[in-house]
Amino acid sequence: MKITLNPNAKDAPTRDALVAEGGFGKYYTDHMVVCEWTEKDGWGEPELQPYGPLSLDPATAVFHYGQEIFEGMKAYRQPDGSISLFRPDANSKRFANSAKRLALPEMPESLFLETVEALVKQDAGWVPNKVGESLYIRPFMIATEVGLGVRPTNKATYILIATPAGAYFDPSKAVSVWISTEYVRAVQGGTGEAKCGGNYAASLVAQKAAAKEGCDQVVWIDAKERKWVEEMGGMNLYFVKGKGAEARVITPKLTGTLLPGITRDSILSVAKDLGYKTEEVMLSIDDWRDGVASGEITEIFACGTAAVVSSVGSAKSTMGTWVTGDGQPGVITMQIRNHLLAIQHGTTPDIHGWVRKVC
Ligand SMILES: *Cc1c(COP(=O)(O)O)cnc(C)c1O
Repeated sequence: MKITLNPNAKDAPTRDALVAEGGFGKYYTDHMVVCEWTEKDGWGEPELQPYGPLSLDPATAVFHYGQEIFEGMKAYRQPDGSISLFRPDANSKRFANSAKRLALPEMPESLFLETVEALVKQDAGWVPNKVGESLYIRPFMIATEVGLGVRPTNKATYILIATPAGAYFDPSKAVSVWISTEYVRAVQGGTGEAKCGGNYAASLVAQKAAAKEGCDQVVWIDAKERKWVEEMGGMNLYFVKGKGAEARVITPKLTGTLLPGITRDSILSVAKDLGYKTEEVMLSIDDWRDGVASGEITEIFACGTAAVVSSVGSAKSTMGTWVTGDGQPGVITMQIRNHLLAIQHGTTPDIHGWVRKVC
């Protein structure tokens, strides 16, 4: 890897003050990694360089046809002060799958991991210390062929940036959701399984509609029958049925239109480790309404790398509003969240081999 250090890197007191401010995506670390690909020569040598703006021709493909993919992952401070990544191999595999779907080049796992580790090592001072805080890492790839012809790009640029993420989970607050029957996120054969910017661009109007209904987030249902629950915003969903040791932890099955979340997958294991039965099922909006009404559904939460776990309180749709529990995050939601965080921060044994030490 070619390394050019940032001559204007923040000094430790300035950096520590910015990290302590918390939030998400407000400040970026001192460096980034860039790696170019061409159809002719394949992947070039990655370069760690000062964080800064890009200069691109206005006719660059990505600006016109949205050929772009991304990932989201985190580095966590461990009790001994070291830094570890959580399941970076899973992000690498998903990045390759997204690349395939968007006709972008697949990046070898070794190269992907090399870039992530290099940035985390270089900007280790930006990794916050407290449980729930982390360094959020954003790898992405854009089509950089210049020209307005619509075709798979013959040039791509991979870029890796990172931002300190505060603990923005507020245990006293559950999010409210608007179940969108007007807009859909994904269709069979579409790009729902890929992490691409276009999916998010297409989702914003529904997010706006949710806000207009007084809700925090949008819940997506399937495009064909308009009844099966898929995801919430950019997070996967979980439902808890029953209470105590008999509780079942349930998530919508991956049908090809859901994004296969790494947090979702991890929670299937964590819930089993905690002694709960887990199920991947087709769950309809009627099941949601009836389950909440009868009290069978006791807790609902959403999960993803950024927020880890957020409790879902009330659900509003054209058919009415259904409130789960007392509007506070449930016992099992909190237990799963805390257990997952403990694995990520190295305070409980990592029996699945998910944690990868960087430095
Ligand atoms: C990224 C993402 C998720 C969550 O995936 P994680 O790997 O758990 O972060 C869920 N749904 C959508 C649409 C996403 O883009």
